Amino acid sequence: MSKIKTIVNNMNLTKVRFTIQLLTFILFVYGGYFAIDFGSKLPIFACPYNGEAAGACYLIPLQHQLSMPAQVLLGGAGIAVIIGFLTFLFWFIFLNKAWCGYVCPFGTFQDWLTLLRKNMGIRFSTYTQTQFEKLSKIKYILLTIVILVPLLMGVGALSAEWSAAFCQICPARIISPMFSGDFSQWTIDFSTKTAMVLTAIGMIFAGLFLIGSFVKKRFFCFFCPMSALHYIFSKFSIVSLQKDGSKCTRCGDCYTVCDMQIKDIADDVTSTNILRDDCILCLKCIAACPEDDALHFDILKLKTFSSTKQGFEKRMGIERPEGLNNESH
Ligand code: SF4
Ligand code: SF4
Ligand code: SF4
Repeated sequence: MSKIKTIVNNMNLTKVRFTIQLLTFILFVYGGYFAIDFGSKLPIFACPYNGEAAGACYLIPLQHQLSMPAQVLLGGAGIAVIIGFLTFLFWFIFLNKAWCGYVCPFGTFQDWLTLLRKNMGIRFSTYTQTQFEKLSKIKYILLTIVILVPLLMGVGALSAEWSAAFCQICPARIISPMFSGDFSQWTIDFSTKTAMVLTAIGMIFAGLFLIGSFVKKRFFCFFCPMSALHYIFSKFSIVSLQKDGSKCTRCGDCYTVCDMQIKDIADDVTSTNILRDDCILCLKCIAACPEDDALHFDILKLKTFSSTKQGFEKRMGIERPEGLNNESH
């Protein structure tokens, strides 16, 4: 058992994560070709506008269900909403925000754009702490739009033109179909004024997504309403990101590698649950931490992947003389 633990703690997370992301990208983006269907309550941007996707993002059925007239929603249809939500929760509790770090095709695509930029030798940009705090609230505003617009449709305050309004402005609607060679979403719908405005905003957001994700790591994830929804229910998950502040030297290595610029990961030495709303549970912070057990990823409260000196040195390629592997220095 301790041998397995050492293997896991010493793993090359970059390679393991790249492989998992590649496989899940193929599965969720092209699974439709093999008749694979994970349903429409997935906690990721597996966008059904891509006809070959192996499932659909939960935000689509959520918007359609909430837009039902109030009397229908409060009647039998309400049960469908609850079942839909429980299905979403069922998927979510197993991986928590690791859906973002390892499975979401839209998250993976952003990581690949980062890789491309890196290989081209172009430097990435970051936000200042003040910008970061302001910008990371946008995802809650977008989540409010996801919920409020359909509810207003349900009570008759907004017309059917607002149907699935968030999807109309979501860059995933335009970009995801491109993965299977479909560029048909790159158009503005002139059928009504509302459709024209929403689809034009969608085009602008898609353009911003491509440019933003090239210069800024996980650019869109800061604004993603799915991430906000994840965070609200993250306490129910069986997995967690934990910190033992007494073992932390505040060296800042974990913060340096964090694509989501989460400062608390290094600075907060009092919280034990260190998952923050922008976290994508990529676990890069654990791999970068040189202190034994200062950070760990737990499944059902069992330490599954922990920071260790030995693992850190292995990943950094630091050679140590035989017999000194477990000694502190
Ligand atoms: S936060 Fe990023 S990875 Fe997570 S669902 Fe949104 S787009 Fe996907
Ligand atoms: S890398 Fe580890 S020791 Fe350094 S600040 Fe982060 S948690 Fe603390
Ligand atoms: S805090 Fe750690 S797990 Fe979360 S996004 Fe940053 S590096 Fe990844």
